[in-house]
Parts: sequence; structure tokens; C-alpha cells
Amino acid sequence: MVKGSKKVIDLLNEGRARELTAVLTYMAQHYELANDDYGKLAKVLKDTGITEMKHAEALAERILFLGGVPTTKPDAEIKRGEKIAAKIATDIALEEGAVKLYNEAAVVCAAERDHVSKDIFEKLLGDENEHLDMFINIKEHIDQLGGQYLVTLTGK
Ligand code: FE
Ligand code: FE
Repeated sequence: MVKGSKKVIDLLNEGRARELTAVLTYMAQHYELANDDYGKLAKVLKDTGITEMKHAEALAERILFLGGVPTTKPDAEIKRGEKIAAKIATDIALEEGAVKLYNEAAVVCAAERDHVSKDIFEKLLGDENEHLDMFINIKEHIDQLGGQYLVTLTGK
């Protein structure tokens, strides 16, 4: 078994805990939105949650490969029952946190001479940048158009 640096394994686990928070948050938002008939926005949250689950798995596989133990715990309480604008603000904060962490983690991985882990963080970073951009766009539409825009998020 390859023995990875503890610093890198800890960062991979920090990332995994953050991904698990995102998985549980987006899943909860998905079914709350679906229940409130915001089917189109619900689908966005469902798909994004599935992407975050793949991220959590990729991190776990790398942690195991390096001889560590993947965490099963999210790093925050999962918010429930927020209004739509508050949900999106929560999501923006989660994605901003991930972008910051993964940028820093990639630098540490390079310093620790672990370019495979660095590549994983950089790949996740690309996805989180897209998620962040998407959630910011949704927020801007809500801010500018309000109810008119929310109507377009209803239905199947
Ligand atoms: Fe992610
Ligand atoms: Fe994300």
C-alpha cells in the first residue's frame, strides 16, 4: 500500500466532509423544491447533488489508496426548510468554501510532491467553479426578476 503524506490525506478528508455536506444539502433541497412544485430547480439540485457524490467517492478512493480512512461525516449541519433565495445563498457559500479549500489543497499537494491528488483537487475545482457560477446566476435572476423568474422554475 502506498503511504501518503498525512497533510494530503487530511486535506482529502476535509474535502470529502465538505462534499458530504453538499450531497446532503442538495438532496434535501431537491425534495423540498420538488414538494413545493419547483420541479425545474429541483432537477438542478438533484443533478448537482449526484455530481457531489461522485466527488466524495473520488476523494475516498484516493484516501484509501494512500492508506487513510475516508470520513463518513459531513462538516456542517444540514439546513432545512429555507426559502428559495436562502437556499441559493447557502449553496453559493458551500461552493465558495469548496473553491477556496481546493485551491489551497492543490498547492499543498504540489509541495508534498503528490501530483495525483493535486490533479483530483483541480478536477473538482473545475466542477465547483461551474456550480458557483450557476448558483450566482440563479441568485442574480431572483434579485433582478423576483417572482417572474421563480415562475419559470416550476413544473416538471
Ligand atoms: Fe464537489
Ligand atoms: Fe459543487
